[in-house]
Amino acid sequence: MKKRTDKNIKNIKIVNLLVMLIAITIIFSFPKPSEGEVVSAAENTNTQVKNVGQPSVPKNIKEPVKKASGKKIAYLTIDDGPSYATNELLNLLAEYDVKATFFMLEPRMKQHSDTLNRMVKEGHALGMHGVTHDKNKFYKSKYTVVQEMTQGKEYIKKVTGTDAYLIRVPYGSHPHMKPSYIQAVKEAGFQMWDWNVDTRDWAYKDKRLATKAIEQIKNLQHRNIEPVILIHDMPTTVKNLRPLLEYLANNFEMRTLENIKEPLIFGSTTASKPKVDNGIRVTVPTFPVTINDMIVDNTKNKFPILIYKDITYLPLTWDYCGALGINITWDNTNGLGLSKKETASDILNQDLSGNNTLGKAYYAQLANLQIKINENNINKDEEYPFLNYKDITYMPLTWKYVTEEFGLQINWNEEKGLSIKK
Ligand SMILES: [Zn+2]
Repeated sequence: MKKRTDKNIKNIKIVNLLVMLIAITIIFSFPKPSEGEVVSAAENTNTQVKNVGQPSVPKNIKEPVKKASGKKIAYLTIDDGPSYATNELLNLLAEYDVKATFFMLEPRMKQHSDTLNRMVKEGHALGMHGVTHDKNKFYKSKYTVVQEMTQGKEYIKKVTGTDAYLIRVPYGSHPHMKPSYIQAVKEAGFQMWDWNVDTRDWAYKDKRLATKAIEQIKNLQHRNIEPVILIHDMPTTVKNLRPLLEYLANNFEMRTLENIKEPLIFGSTTASKPKVDNGIRVTVPTFPVTINDMIVDNTKNKFPILIYKDITYLPLTWDYCGALGINITWDNTNGLGLSKKETASDILNQDLSGNNTLGKAYYAQLANLQIKINENNINKDEEYPFLNYKDITYMPLTWKYVTEEFGLQINWNEEKGLSIKK
């Protein structure tokens, strides 16, 4: 008798699931390039730009199909820009979802100031490369070094509102940066970076740009060293970059140099191996998110909605949980317990003491606690694990949790963004 009831319930669940699946297929059936689909360069640039930093829609709620990447980390750094080639370069980076660090010259930033906000928006890091790029002027004293970098920093702040602190000195730190110079830039709050893969793109203006760089990268990999790759923002490099980006995107998780404790500097003991213990890279969505039709203020909310690997994450604060009818309990023995409530709060209280940059990378940790949802333990090896950010647990809005466990309605609209409703 019991068996039969279980079976009935199961059947009802399957029917419900099917109905929801069909409904969602209809809602989300507008065309969009799927991930991994190569968008040809000839295609409309606007389309490419629009898709940047925005997770392709169905992935937000669908049960994930990708396996955890477990990919190694590499860094692409781009010197001497911005230039007339920067927008095309940004298109390419977006196409391969490669996040990079730009070390830029102040006069060129003034010439191509429109590219700076695009870089920020698309999750790249902005850094300084000085003003003059002239050995004699730049390295004249520790004060000229700091002064040129500060001038660039101030311009970035003026245009984008962000505080840049990463620097690369012209021609690399050796031998010009004397110990007193290094000390001076540190004291001024800058973090200086050299590189360990020189693509020599000023010499290789053809296929060799990629093949020679890949050789060097493979050598480093054998020694278990994370590549910090140097290219320049110039037309010939952009023209020949595609094979290198394809290789990087297939083999590495490409991060920016932000939030790294030990930079790579020529000759220092850590030169060959930047330490990376940043945790898990997450971003604040660039699209609007509403909860019960109330806009989440992701720039000011102390606990913004986050995105990890194309999945939206919900902070499990009292405010969010209350608005979505999620009952939350905590105790030392049983850990965190989440269950579905029938009622929800009419308003969404928001703690607006935060300051987040949309699209920028932040770092979270795995949530290291026992979690139960509707009495079932959550497996810690899930591809989209629960995360911890600013001491708050974040729940992935995967199909399983959103619809099966909490019966929430989630909806996507090009204009209005992501809507989550009780
Ligand atoms: Zn340079």
